[in-house]
Amino acid sequence: MASSNHQKKGGKISPPAKPLSSKSPKSALKAFFNSAYAQNLKEQICEMGRRQWQREYVDANGGNMAIRVGEDLALCTPASVSKGFMKPEDMCLVDFEGNQIAGDKPRTSEILMHLAMMKRQPRAMATCHAHPPYATGFAIAGVVPPRRMIPEYEIYATVGIAPYHTPGQPEMSRLIAELVDEHNTILMTNHGVVSWSHLDIEDAYFKMEIIEAYCRTLLVTAQLGVPPKKIAPELVVELLKRKKTVHIPDPRYRWTHAELARPEWFPGRKEKI
Ligand SMILES: [Zn+2]
Repeated sequence: MASSNHQKKGGKISPPAKPLSSKSPKSALKAFFNSAYAQNLKEQICEMGRRQWQREYVDANGGNMAIRVGEDLALCTPASVSKGFMKPEDMCLVDFEGNQIAGDKPRTSEILMHLAMMKRQPRAMATCHAHPPYATGFAIAGVVPPRRMIPEYEIYATVGIAPYHTPGQPEMSRLIAELVDEHNTILMTNHGVVSWSHLDIEDAYFKMEIIEAYCRTLLVTAQLGVPPKKIAPELVVELLKRKKTVHIPDPRYRWTHAELARPEWFPGRKEKI
């Protein structure tokens, strides 16, 4: 099982002593944007972009990421750049209304969605959006993957699904934000996936790997022609206890054993399992 306690790349460089906000002096915001701390975060975003492009989670200029860096400030990816080939100097600094404060390239057009998630979920330190094909397939079908199949998925992902709305518009941001209290990974119908982490951008990206690997594995299981085995509810409770200790939300914390045992839709089967 993977751990979220990965090495923090920003571990050696401290954030600004006094948290910044959009009302901080322009000179302080500029100094922050050019600081070693911000540079490190920009490099982390570039690295996550490379991983996503290599794994084919993003195509052309698709996908975007953001990191909370102040009371109402975020570093984010630029528009119209392949996520596989970004440079630290491409990154942008925005306030929580999406106004660009620093950066030469224009910020991503989907920033309002990331900001709406951060505003609604104060624990969201980083957000990641991509179009990984297997998970996006589930999002197009409009179905949340059935649970109780793989322990890692039970612990690290809590998946919800948001209805379609035109990308970049406030209504879409609202629909996504409504889900972030209890879900860290959201399937966007007819679009893709967006995730958030209370840790950092790598952890937000890990949610993308987890949902994509899970959806792909479920499709393999579906082709084998036998009913899948499911983890028993009492053992799911054990996993949920572990999930609480890593501070990931899940509406099932309140569920009874009978509710945890509820049959769910499974790919390729008419009856629920
Ligand atoms: Zn998108």
